[in-house]
Amino acid sequence: MADCPCGLKSEYEKCCGRYIEKGAKAPTAEALIRSRYSAYATGKAEYIVKTALYPPDIEDLYAFMKEIEFYSLTVLQKKGGGVLDKKGTVEFAARYVKDGKDAKLHEISKFVRKRGEWLYDESGSRIVE
Ligand SMILES: [Zn+2]
Repeated sequence: MADCPCGLKSEYEKCCGRYIEKGAKAPTAEALIRSRYSAYATGKAEYIVKTALYPPDIEDLYAFMKEIEFYSLTVLQKKGGGVLDKKGTVEFAARYVKDGKDAKLHEISKFVRKRGEWLYDESGSRIVE
């Protein structure tokens, strides 16, 4: 059985695919970041736009996704972001290949919940290294 791109030992359809393909709402900030990572890894730019508080330009996203190949996600720490919370932060490291070189994105991402939906808040997020 293939793991989900987000790294959990679950099939894509039962993991991030529920949110990306079927429109189910991610119940926690961690579920959202995992599904956003899987969307980046599989080129689902619409989902990235849909789950952002400040939606990026979709053409820019497609260009970015063409340049970068994500291959692993590690969730390092989280604060809040649970089913009863309205905000939360998740620290993660994502590994990718760009121009044939290995690279890492280490970020503390901020999330807010609006009308029951978790959204990525880029303005409150910061890159760690
Ligand atoms: Zn997943």
